Amino acid sequence: MSYEYDDQNIFAKILRGEIPNDTVMETEHTLAFRDISAQAPVHVLVIPKGPYVCYDHFALEASDAEIVDFTRVIGEVCKAEGVQEGGYRVISNAGRAGVQEVPHLHVHVLGGRNLGRMLAKG
Ligand code: AMP
Repeated sequence: MSYEYDDQNIFAKILRGEIPNDTVMETEHTLAFRDISAQAPVHVLVIPKGPYVCYDHFALEASDAEIVDFTRVIGEVCKAEGVQEGGYRVISNAGRAGVQEVPHLHVHVLGGRNLGRMLAKG
């Protein structure tokens, strides 16, 4: 499968500085910022700066440096947001079945309350 990246998506605009964001941390390859419509006391989005549509695109085509940086930032966000002890959930929605709204890879880091079961039945 080939991946087509739409550079007009809202996270691409955030990365270009065209739209403001509430940054939690930023590194060479990765940006973490608060979700505008938080679903838990902690709801941070972690995105790579590169043009990757979804998780499998990133996992298959990103450089080792990007993958290491992205993964480390997820860990640093958990630490900085204080959810390590109480627990948290990391989610990445992809494509139609995953009901992905923004076509730029993002991982949701959620915590600060009991998040319930992973999926509602059916
Ligand atoms: P998904 O359904 O996984 O694609 O999630 C997209 C997420 O992006 C949602 O949780 C939205 O609330 C969030 N979102 C959309 N626009 C913005 C924005 N400008 N700043 C922060 N979060 C946003």
